[in-house]
Amino acid sequence: MDPVKIMKAAERGAETTARLLADLISIRSLSGDERTVVERIGSEMSDAGFDEVRVDGLGSIIGRIGSGKTVIAIDAHIDTVGEGNRALWSFDPFKGQVRDGKVWGRGAADQKGGMAAMIAAGRMMKELHIEDDFTVLFTGTVMEEDCDGLCWQHLIKEEGLKPDVCIITEPTGLNIYRGHRGRMEMELAVAGRSAHGSAPERGDNAIYKMARVALEIERLNSRLTGDDFLGKGTIVVSEIGSSGPSQCAVPDAARIYIDRRLALEDTKELAVAQLQAVCELEKIADFKVSVPVYKNAAYSGKIYPTEKYYPTWSISEDHRAVRAAGSACRELFGAVPRIDKWTFSTNGVAICGMHKIPCVGFGPGFEEQAHAPDEWTPVEHLWKAAAFYAAFPAAFVRSKQ
Ligand SMILES: [Zn+2]
Repeated sequence: MDPVKIMKAAERGAETTARLLADLISIRSLSGDERTVVERIGSEMSDAGFDEVRVDGLGSIIGRIGSGKTVIAIDAHIDTVGEGNRALWSFDPFKGQVRDGKVWGRGAADQKGGMAAMIAAGRMMKELHIEDDFTVLFTGTVMEEDCDGLCWQHLIKEEGLKPDVCIITEPTGLNIYRGHRGRMEMELAVAGRSAHGSAPERGDNAIYKMARVALEIERLNSRLTGDDFLGKGTIVVSEIGSSGPSQCAVPDAARIYIDRRLALEDTKELAVAQLQAVCELEKIADFKVSVPVYKNAAYSGKIYPTEKYYPTWSISEDHRAVRAAGSACRELFGAVPRIDKWTFSTNGVAICGMHKIPCVGFGPGFEEQAHAPDEWTPVEHLWKAAAFYAAFPAAFVRSKQ
């Protein structure tokens, strides 16, 4: 397909795509409450002539175009975070607006813009008869903001989706991204022995023990390493609590909550072992490290428990998927953009991190807009991303040869 034709069709559809994004923003869809936005996306996909539209058991929507051999998934999560402090917004976050060449509202960048551009791409593929030996699965996935990758664990393990490659449409500023650090959450409990507050020497104060552990975790953070591309791992004590018989007693239990960002070589086992080593270094005899389990219900009612472990992923700069993305950009835009990584985490933790399906990021909007007040995305990004999603499948099939 002639890239000039794709670009012209995409630009002609710019206003429609922008208005669709404004509509999607106006349908509030916090994690676990995506039913209405899924219904709207489904009717848009059907209207655009997608070959099949279905909803999986967790409530994610899958629109298919084509039935060829190479399977290409293009993914957008369709839940958003809340508004945060409403006073920081200069307009209603859940009333999408198109003005000054931008679309404004919660989810404009993170990441309903990706979904709007995907629907525009599907429509173009049908109108321009962009076909080859490929199947494209446009997925609008749920609960990402709450538990990244859960939706894709479900698509892969329960629905049998096995794409050869996946484009993640989270905001990249139309640059090509090829990875990000992983993350996990941990809980550490330390036990002491209670005694009357008037005689602390009779007890074993769990708070004092945990305080020493927390300070050692601060030192562990400075020792963590990583690679040049994704950067170093980090560890943060994010919450602390304690309990005992009363406020006038030596506490017999203390617990902390930990946010751990994972570098290229960091695994769950390593992160847990590091925390155990900290406790051993501080000569804590009675402690327990655990990885919490996410078990919130989807809007479909389904509970699909998973550990809060979101593995790191990256693919090399000369991977076929990155090269195909580069050649699609060169043909459409006349240049290959920056090849980079996300600071935050995406559904790639499951698709590539757990299941080793190569992922490439290419999305409208800017990373810095994610979760920020007065969120926006340029209209120009929307139609250019749509052109990219329409052109990438053929570029990927060609890259095989
Ligand atoms: Zn996102």
